[in-house]
Amino acid sequence: MHELYPWCQSHWQSIMTAKSIERMPHAILLYGPKGIGKYTFTDHLVNNLLCDSPGENKLACGVCSSCVLFKANTHPDHLRVSIPDEKKVISIEQTREIYHHLMLKAKKSAFKTVTILAADKMTISAANSLLKILEEPPRNTVITLISTSLFALPVTIRSRCQKFQFSIHKREAEKWLAQQLLSINSKQEDINLMYLLNLVGGAPLRALSYLEQDLLSQRIKLAHNLFSFKENINPLKTVEDYILKIWEEALYWMILFTMDMIRIKRNVSTELLINTDIEDYLREFSRKVELKPLFSLLEKIEYSLWLLTNRTQINTQLLLEKLLIDWFLLLA
Ligand SMILES: [Zn+2]
Repeated sequence: MHELYPWCQSHWQSIMTAKSIERMPHAILLYGPKGIGKYTFTDHLVNNLLCDSPGENKLACGVCSSCVLFKANTHPDHLRVSIPDEKKVISIEQTREIYHHLMLKAKKSAFKTVTILAADKMTISAANSLLKILEEPPRNTVITLISTSLFALPVTIRSRCQKFQFSIHKREAEKWLAQQLLSINSKQEDINLMYLLNLVGGAPLRALSYLEQDLLSQRIKLAHNLFSFKENINPLKTVEDYILKIWEEALYWMILFTMDMIRIKRNVSTELLINTDIEDYLREFSRKVELKPLFSLLEKIEYSLWLLTNRTQINTQLLLEKLLIDWFLLLA
């Protein structure tokens, strides 16, 4: 398990205080951007609730039998609910499983715990069945919901949870990231960390994963391909070579490119541009196209991303190829 990140300490203290005065909330909602540490925080929290004797800073001891079971993902008092492989939603069958889990007496620990990853992906019927549990939660149960967006969850669910927003100041994120690079002996000292953080919406763990997975150079390759028009440009090959394997990030980058072109057309200050490294491209192409088609392109990319994230039975490659044909038709 990763450390409890420094920017999560105040949330940690307030939940631990609530626990110490026996006011532990039954339902906790953690929300904030991808890569800000919500999952790690949840693991520490659940581990604390299950552990026989938490130690310093109330962190789980790591050695008691409960900790050993939790580490092995086999603790009988904990249930982890997430989107199943090959699916894109959390179903009512899964929330019913939560009910059955909580109805049984705790076998080892003082608490029964549930974590729901990507809680905003519950179907309406799943959310309704969870709501029934949240309205009358059994004693000593803690359900932790995790979501990137607060408003993606029904208000009825939100109102039953104690909410914690995860965020970090950019300067603090930059400092933390620099320390990480130092400790992994990264040779990427020439990278402008503030620029990287802007690119990933300020989330330090996501920024770190960009460095570890070399996503920055993949982004640049995609940008060169999208903006350097040669006679023989081939949208199908662009999809195959630069997008298909990392479509989630690639579409996110295309959204950022398009948003920057819109900003340029609207004469927004250069400081507000995100893709400063390819500003010349963006300026050149924003001259060629009107504002309205840019907005409709943005909508198409966002809708494609939504379809791929939320709908099963989508032919990913075909959808991406269609999108790229639209891109080149507009900007070529
Ligand atoms: Zn322990």
